This record gives sequence, structure tokens and C-alpha cells, in this order.
Amino acid sequence: MADLSNSTIVHQKRGDVEYLQFRKLLEYEDVLTHCYTLKAGELDFRKQNKERLNQSCQKICQILKIDKTRIVIPEQRHTNNVKLVKTLAQGPSLWEEPFGQTDGILTNQKNIILTTTSSDCTNILLFDPIKKVIGSIHSGWRGTFQKIGKIAVEKMKEEYHCNPKDILCFLCPTIRKCHFEVHCDVKEPCEKIFSYTGQINHIITPIGQVEGREKWTIDTVLINKLLLMEAGVKTENIYDSGICSVCHKDKMHSLRGENGVLQGLNAAMIVLK
Ligand SMILES: [Zn+2]
Repeated sequence: MADLSNSTIVHQKRGDVEYLQFRKLLEYEDVLTHCYTLKAGELDFRKQNKERLNQSCQKICQILKIDKTRIVIPEQRHTNNVKLVKTLAQGPSLWEEPFGQTDGILTNQKNIILTTTSSDCTNILLFDPIKKVIGSIHSGWRGTFQKIGKIAVEKMKEEYHCNPKDILCFLCPTIRKCHFEVHCDVKEPCEKIFSYTGQINHIITPIGQVEGREKWTIDTVLINKLLLMEAGVKTENIYDSGICSVCHKDKMHSLRGENGVLQGLNAAMIVLK
């Protein structure tokens, strides 16, 4: 059975459930818990299938010893909107709480399980161990082009007085340059927006004609790292899982790995104890 553990990640297996954790975040186990879920045990965090969502929340929360009624999942729409979660209303379906058009959530409150989901998109977990602030971000290529990672760090600074130098950032499994082939409709805006970084030759690589059309690969992981550093995050505080979701489609939901037919969503969760 494939094990995705590496120098940054621990691959955990409990019963039929599997999930990944960042070794660095495990150093703070007394203040928080976190995970990036895999698809074993039929975990799927799509909101359309309430029963499956409920079972998935139940399974992972039981393992992590957290209360599933404290989960917040925003209504992700590939925006760069980042919102604060200040309190939770009581209720059985907290994923329907008012976080519409939201792709990033932050809190300094204990016992609120910040959750964003993905199937190839990049989830970023954030943690400031000094101010005790956490975040869960959904940064697909559209959100990345709108700089949601940078906006989230800026918001931590403005709203919670975090020093970006203290913030730890965790890049979950995502589609990577090995698989992220795009046409000119994505390549052109990418070039236009990120030429200023001086890294465009590392971000975009031409791969020639595929089925009669020009194609490129793009490195959205590199873009996210550059954006986080622009916001003042230290290079050494960016922890990259190094895992491509498409390469490991047997282990996790991957839209491209499933030929563009969504089969489920993985969840990036973080909670202060
Ligand atoms: Zn790959």
C-alpha cells in the first residue's frame, strides 16, 4: 500500500480512514490539530451529498477527537474573499452558515474547525504560533491569480496583528507542474499577472503542440510561494507537501486524474484546541 510520508508529511492510517499531517504542525499538538483527508474510507466533502458529507465529517472528527458540529466549510467560488469566523451559531449543519462566495477563512477562536476542500486545487493551511491564529485557504488557479494567499496573510496582519514573519504556511497536495497543462486562455493571464516576479520562465514552460493546440505547463505552487513571501512570510516557514494530486489519484480525489469528472473533495482542516 502506497505511503505518502516524506520529510514534510506523515501519512496516517486509522481503520479505513487515511489522512496526511504536516510534521511541523504536529509539534504544536497541544494547541491544534489538523489534517488533509484522502479518499480511503469513502471520505468526500462535497456539500451536494449531505449523507456522505456527514459521514466523512463524523469519521475524521472521531479520529482527531474534535466535535463535528464545529466544522465551517465556506461556499467556495474561486474568489479571493477571505473572511473571519468569529462565532458559531448552534445548529446541526454548520457548513451552511453564512460563508457564501468565500475561499479563505481565519479565526483566533478555539474549537472552530476551519475547513476548505479541493480536488487538485491548492489548499493552504496557516498558523501563527505567537498570536494563535489559524487559516484554511482554497487557492485554485483562479484564486491564485487573484492572490488569495497573499490576501489571507495581509488579513491576519490587519485583523489579528500577526507578524507575517511568524506565520507558518502549509501547502497541501495539489496538481503540480508535472500535470498542470493549460491552453493560452490560462497561460496568457498568468504571464500578464506574474511577469513582475521575474520568475515567469520558471512558472510557465512551453510543451509544444498537443492535439493540434499549443500547450504549456504552469507552476501554481511556485506562484503561491512567491505570493506568500511577498506578503512577508519567511521562505523557511513555507512547508510544501511536495505531493501531486494527479500523480496520486489512487489515494486522493483529483479532478484531472478522473478525466474532469468530479468524484469527490478532499478536506484541509485546522482547529485550535
Ligand atoms: Zn503530477
